[in-house]
Amino acid sequence: MTQVFHTVTAVRAAVTRATQKSAQQQPVVSIVPTMGALHSGHGALLQAARNSADIVIASVFVNPLQFDDPQDYQHYPRQFEKDLELLTRHGADFVFAPDLEQMYPGYPEAPLVRVSTGELGQRWEGASRPGHFDGVATVVTKLFTILHPPAPAVCEAWFGQKDAEQLAIMRRLVTDLNLPVRIRALPIVRDENGLALSSRNMRLNDQDYDAALSIPRALVALVERAESGQELDLEELRGHLRAADGLDLDYLVVVDPTTLQEIEDGALDKPALALIAARVGPVRLIDTMDLRPGLSPSK
Ligand code: AMP
Repeated sequence: MTQVFHTVTAVRAAVTRATQKSAQQQPVVSIVPTMGALHSGHGALLQAARNSADIVIASVFVNPLQFDDPQDYQHYPRQFEKDLELLTRHGADFVFAPDLEQMYPGYPEAPLVRVSTGELGQRWEGASRPGHFDGVATVVTKLFTILHPPAPAVCEAWFGQKDAEQLAIMRRLVTDLNLPVRIRALPIVRDENGLALSSRNMRLNDQDYDAALSIPRALVALVERAESGQELDLEELRGHLRAADGLDLDYLVVVDPTTLQEIEDGALDKPALALIAARVGPVRLIDTMDLRPGLSPSK
C-alpha cells in the first residue's frame, strides 16, 4: 500500500520504522525524486527502483530553486491526484509530497545555504539556465538527508539519462559531499515517434509536436554517423535545425558524459554523449543520445 507524507517529521519516522521492521538484514531503500506531472518515463524509473529495492520512496515536489524562469515555474504542470495513481500502480511504498514551507521554511527568504555545483553546473543547460543545477543539487541533497534510512540499510537514488547533465552532477554531488547514496541511471523512455517523454510535452500543440520531432531525428543522425565512422558534421546538423520551422535551437554538442566538456568533431575514441536543447512553442526541451554506448559510465 502506498502511503503519502507531507511533512519531514512524518516521512522520516516512517522510513526509520519501515527499515527497522524489514525482514532484510540490510534493506535497500530507493529514492526516486520527481517534480510530478508523471508519465511513463517516471513509471519506468519507479519500476526499476521497485525491482532493485526493498523500500521505494518517490518524492513529488516542484522545486522553485531550479527554475530560472518564473513563467516556467508558474506553468509547470501540477496534478498530484493523477500522479498518486501512477505511483501506486508502480508500487511506491512511500510518497513524500512536501509543500514549500516544509522544504524551505521562510521561503522566498530562505535557504541561505545552498549547494554549489561549480563549473560542472555552468555548462550547456547550466549556461542557459543560471542557477538551475545549484537548485537541483540543493533540493536533492535535502531529499537525501530527509529520506536517508538509518544504517545498516543501503540507500540508492534513481535518475533518468534524459537529464544527462543532471545525472553527471548527481554523481559528482554524492562523491564530493560523501553522501552515502548510490546513484542509479535509467535509459530514456520515448514515445512512438522517438520524442523523449517529458512533463513539458503536454504543453505542445500539434504543430509544436511535429517541430519537436526534429530533436530526436538530429540525435539519431549523429548516432548513425558515429556508428558508421563518418564525420559528425555538427555544424551541418545545427544549420538544418536552425532552418526548421517552430524550433529555436539553443545548443547541439557532443560532450564527455562525466566532465560535460565538449569533444571536438570526430574524436570518438572515448565516451561521448550528444546533448541538445531547443525551445519549441511554449517550452524548452532537452534530449541526449549516447554515441559510444559501450564506453559510457556504468548504469
Ligand atoms: P522530473 O520530474 O522531470 O524532474 O524527472 C524526474 C526524474 O525522471 C529525473 O531523474 C528524470 O531524468 C527522469 N525522467 C524524466 N523523463 C524521463 C524519460 N523520458 N525517460 C527516463 N527518465 C525520465
